[in-house]
Amino acid sequence: RITYVNGQYVPSRDAMVHVEDRGYQFADGVYEVCEVFHGALIDEPRHLERLARSLAELQIDAPLGQGALAIVLREIIARNKVANGYIYIQATRGVAPRDHAFPPKCVRPSLVVTARTVDPEKGEMTARKGVTVATMPDLRWKRVDIKTISLIANVLARQEAKERGAYEAWLIDSDGMVVEGAASNAWIIDRSGTIITRHIDHFVLRGITRTTLIDIIAAEGLKLEERRFSLDEAFSAQEAFITGATTLIMPVVGIDGRKIGAGAPGPLAQRLRAIFHDTAVRTL
Ligand code: PLP
Repeated sequence: RITYVNGQYVPSRDAMVHVEDRGYQFADGVYEVCEVFHGALIDEPRHLERLARSLAELQIDAPLGQGALAIVLREIIARNKVANGYIYIQATRGVAPRDHAFPPKCVRPSLVVTARTVDPEKGEMTARKGVTVATMPDLRWKRVDIKTISLIANVLARQEAKERGAYEAWLIDSDGMVVEGAASNAWIIDRSGTIITRHIDHFVLRGITRTTLIDIIAAEGLKLEERRFSLDEAFSAQEAFITGATTLIMPVVGIDGRKIGAGAPGPLAQRLRAIFHDTAVRTL
């Protein structure tokens, strides 16, 4: 496998970042994960736009212009011969002697791009069965709208979910409302067929899959409410699902050991999953 690191394409085992990189010491950086499907990038413009926003929010200079970055993504896909899978982009504030405050302006941000091949049939198999989620308090900081690599609370949540036999964690705020997953947005469909997901503010990530799905919901003439929903609402929902660039639209069949709907993937979630790639923007 080949990795792009700070201007060079190198075998992944030789790819190196300095030990005083602020990403390593402070998790002072941001990232993106973009799906590759049939050799094309899925929703690349939205991912690059969100990356630019995350960088700006943290006052990190863009390590590359958007055109140059787009070329790197294509090189990494080609050199790793990825037909289906995803690319990972990580940009950090750069290398400097350890000090919490920003280093001088002359310090250049670091950029790493990797790619991974995934068998899409595996995801389809998982989606046919559906997944379960385990709920727990949301212990993250108050700016999770920025896609930072500072993911320890998400890591611990996903690990707890795994130990409880679940595929994903659903993070619950202090009012008992569902915020999102450890690495996905959370959705329910109520008994009247209304699709509900949390509105966007600083406490939730604006998922790209979420944004594209909202376009699909509008095009299909389905009803959408962007608002908070409680765990009790989720328990009595007709369907539930999660969205993310690697999971796409994944039906949820159980929450904390309780069946959702019929305890099988819901028909609407399955339909939305089936049509997702028809609407998502593909760039070669
Ligand atoms: N929420 C969180 C906390 C995430 O980490 C992710 C993706 O990794 C998402 C939501 C889904 O975002 P996207 O659809 O852009 O992958």
